[in-house]
Amino acid sequence: MSETTEQEPPVLWLKAVERRYKQGEGSLEILKGAEFAVWPGESVALIAPSGTGKSTLLHVAGLLEAPDAGEVYIGGVATSGMADGDRTRIRRTDIGFVYQFHHLLSEFTALENVMLPQMIRGLTKKEAKTRAGDLLGYLGLGERLNHRPAELSGGEQQRVAIARAVANAPRLLMADEPTGNLDPKTADHVFQALTQLVRASRLAAVVATHNMELAARMDRRVTIRDGLVVEL
Ligand code: ADP
Ligand code: MG
Repeated sequence: MSETTEQEPPVLWLKAVERRYKQGEGSLEILKGAEFAVWPGESVALIAPSGTGKSTLLHVAGLLEAPDAGEVYIGGVATSGMADGDRTRIRRTDIGFVYQFHHLLSEFTALENVMLPQMIRGLTKKEAKTRAGDLLGYLGLGERLNHRPAELSGGEQQRVAIARAVANAPRLLMADEPTGNLDPKTADHVFQALTQLVRASRLAAVVATHNMELAARMDRRVTIRDGLVVEL
């Protein structure tokens, strides 16, 4: 073993990322060379007014949208030159998403919703069921395994969505205003579940939120200013 400690690469690194959208004849410059890195076990709140590019940043970082310039590294690996199939695989295995609305499948139970991504990835039904049950239990939903989304409260639905997002043990969790639809007390509960999970699993998380109180509990806070990511 060498004496120098091995420096772990950031889970996510955006390097000089640009993103623009066409608008009539011109274009809307949203990200103008954004730099942003997140390390394992770190939780970062992304706080910025509506329309500044929070969702855009999360989509680019989560490989749902390609940057117009710059590079997105996941676990130290550049993603821009990859084949679509490889990017999709990284998105499925390394990245989990939680949205403002839960997007759970209404015909399936909480347990099944969390099992599905694992089975798509190739785990057996039995393996998927065990992990889904453990995760939901960890998030306080042990008594709700067989409920369908419509039979769950808003906070419970979001906790199932979080369990689903981390079902395949991603290294990066992206959450886009995950508590935006919830009352303050429920938001608090969901947020607590999320941060507890991040710390316990060495996951890195980027959470867009308007809730300063919740953001204050995360490791770092950043905003988007003039198309750049700025530490708060
Ligand atoms: P936020 O999540 O911070 O509210 P967004 O990232 O959703 O902001 O959007 C940033 C800006 O980019 C907004 O002005 C929005 O209208 C624009 N925008 C987002 N997506 C598209 C798109 N697909 N086409 C054109 N404009 C878009
Ligand atoms: Mg948004």
